[in-house]
Amino acid sequence: MIRSRTSRLAAAALSRPRRQWTCPACLSKRQYSKQPEKREPPDHRKLGHQQELFMTSVYSPGSPIFLPNGARIFNRLVDFLRKQYVRYGFQEVITPTIYKKSLWAKSGHLENYAEDMYAVTGNKRASDLEGATGCCGTDHAKDEAAAEEEDDYGLKPMNCPGHCLIFASKLHSYRDLPVRYADFSPLHRNEISGALSGLTRVRRFHQDDGHIFCRPSQVEGEIKKTLDFVKTVYSVLRLGVSYRLALSTRPKDHYIGTEEEWARAEDSLKRALDASGMEWTVNEGDGAFYGPKIDIVLKDSEGKEHQTATIQLDFQLPKRFELEYQAPAPEYEARGETTDDPELLAHYGPVRPVMIHRAVLGSVERLLALLIENYDGKWPFWLNPKQAIILTVNTSDPVIEWADEVRNILLGNKKLEADGLPALESLSGQTGLAVDMDTTARSLGTKIREAHASGYGLVLVVGEQDAKNQQVSLGKERLGPLEMRDRMLRMVDTFE
Ligand SMILES: [Zn+2]
Repeated sequence: MIRSRTSRLAAAALSRPRRQWTCPACLSKRQYSKQPEKREPPDHRKLGHQQELFMTSVYSPGSPIFLPNGARIFNRLVDFLRKQYVRYGFQEVITPTIYKKSLWAKSGHLENYAEDMYAVTGNKRASDLEGATGCCGTDHAKDEAAAEEEDDYGLKPMNCPGHCLIFASKLHSYRDLPVRYADFSPLHRNEISGALSGLTRVRRFHQDDGHIFCRPSQVEGEIKKTLDFVKTVYSVLRLGVSYRLALSTRPKDHYIGTEEEWARAEDSLKRALDASGMEWTVNEGDGAFYGPKIDIVLKDSEGKEHQTATIQLDFQLPKRFELEYQAPAPEYEARGETTDDPELLAHYGPVRPVMIHRAVLGSVERLLALLIENYDGKWPFWLNPKQAIILTVNTSDPVIEWADEVRNILLGNKKLEADGLPALESLSGQTGLAVDMDTTARSLGTKIREAHASGYGLVLVVGEQDAKNQQVSLGKERLGPLEMRDRMLRMVDTFE
């Protein structure tokens, strides 16, 4: 738009600040009050406390206690992953929390990781000692050593050795592979108490842990699938745009396996990274001594980076646990190659599988902290621990009874039988939605304000007319409770 000179001058005069006398003592105060308020970056510890998601206790430092709201979110994340496991071919297993010291010796943890582990001792030794007569003879000392051996356990810091035991428990043919185990067990690592904080520096946590045992020729395909899995999960969690991939390669000096094995493994990781279509970088020499790895590094809303998902190749554990599968032409198979030679193919032999450790969320606790801060406490509907609340307009019996019935319909609770128990066929059909109710005798305006302030996704209202017409009000809309339920379930299904 072109304006005339006069109107430009008039506009300039209007926008020019008018000279005004200001008391010097007030100047700094006025200037200060004009500054836009600087907002503190979201802190998951504060929000977690405000929203009653989790707490900590001096009786178990570093072990977050999930409150009902936090447990709801935690379980929804885990359920979401469980559903994806069907698509990605993972089978969930449930494994012990404590294992004998001898297992940790076999896995190498005793040698390399003992300081980060908790030792657990059974009380059999104590009772044995109590029963002892005080004799210091050799036999008794021997018994004591045996009892010590028998009763010394370690609290698991990771699931890998347990999954190796499962793989080793039966014979495998090359046709069975890949075998993929998933595990949500709690893990314990002995962080020093000064470093403990919220959900990010903890002693007890859960991983969406998984181990893939595959043929050398399957490594690339498995890595590709895992990267796809990461992409899917992060886009559902709306973390999709801000992560990068980093490949860590063979350390210069301290590593196991041959250079050739490493080169082959790194090449397959590189090909999988290229195929992912994402940018990736190399951390030269930064791999663990037992294999190269891909780290997924997430950027939070403040630009800070967090390592979340990880994909790690392991040459060591399959050797330590003597894992193997039977395959034709084993020498070719071990190099990830094939042959057409019928004579070679007629000969079967044992081959070491490749083990891939992988976690998509990483530590569920740490990822939750990131989500809390990333959403700034405003949960998407499917994860929201407060999905809906039903507010009553008054406290009349028909209104309260109808509100209660609406809640039962939304929750999928069916009517009880005459004996007060639910009929067997009505036990299924629970929707898993989180629906609360406020039937207090306060004004509707107050109840609505409070519901919005405390983070409810949907605020439903029930009044006399609604009770009569068997409907609920959502803003200006009037809906039947079944229609409302279907809408909410659709929102959950589409990760709204
Ligand atoms: Zn592992």
